[in-house]
Amino acid sequence: MIPLFDAHCDTLYALQKNGGSLARNAGHFDLTRGAAFAPAARFFAVYGFPFGVLYPLFAKNAAACQDRIALCRTASEARATAAAGQLAAFLSLEGAEAVGLSEGGLEDAWRQGARMVSLTWNHDNPLAGGASGDGRGLSEAGRAFLRRAKALPMVVDVSHASDRTFWDIAEEMGGTPFVASHSNARVVCPHRRNLTDDQADALIRANGFIGLNLYAGFLARGRQAVLSDALAHLEHFLSRGGAGQVGLGCDLDGCDDLPEGMSGVQDMEALYELLLRENYPEALVRDIFYNNLIRVVETVCGM
Ligand SMILES: [Zn+2]
Repeated sequence: MIPLFDAHCDTLYALQKNGGSLARNAGHFDLTRGAAFAPAARFFAVYGFPFGVLYPLFAKNAAACQDRIALCRTASEARATAAAGQLAAFLSLEGAEAVGLSEGGLEDAWRQGARMVSLTWNHDNPLAGGASGDGRGLSEAGRAFLRRAKALPMVVDVSHASDRTFWDIAEEMGGTPFVASHSNARVVCPHRRNLTDDQADALIRANGFIGLNLYAGFLARGRQAVLSDALAHLEHFLSRGGAGQVGLGCDLDGCDDLPEGMSGVQDMEALYELLLRENYPEALVRDIFYNNLIRVVETVCGM
């Protein structure tokens, strides 16, 4: 079967906003369609609503499908869950607003299972500058928050960071792997949510992770994106030496426009097959689809 570890989806946000269940819904991801992949793991982002709202929503949905999904905090939990034929669900915080911008809130979320955090969404906040803000970096409070996240430990995500926040975080991480969970290459598609080559190089050097984002607007500009556009971004990261660091952060349920012909997780098989048709070794495709991200979880969050 095709393995799939996706570093970012907004399915919890979509369920809270639109209703429906994790078992089956009209969005990009549900457990019914996700069951086609194994081993399967996925980070569910807490975005747009407080952790205290989306965590109970997640827990209620997971309890209703106990045979199909389990919350995981480590790589070994993910492996055991996958071996039982279930989806390994990880929780991430997309923007520290979800935990009231506070270290105490961050610790509470960590205790309840959250294992990845980004300090901002696109907007600036008192901790850090976001991708659409005025260009500021980390504040002193942001540095303290980041150090707390690193110590818990949580995977630190820079996908929505301003360029300056990116470099402030890279410096604070001091070699610990960090990730851009759902960002593409800026040289391939010029957008401030995509990574510059220097940023991609820094993530690769830190043995972190870059998750390819399938949002059409981050894949191509000025025309409808097609699935092979994802290949152009992938090729670019591979050309920077990222075979062990690039993977998937598809942004399912967080974007309204996927590449032509794609309507959700069920179409990930088409990307897998496209890579094989392009003569990618299957071991590399499996690294991209699963292994590179589980390695970061193992390194940061423990075996
Ligand atoms: Zn996002």
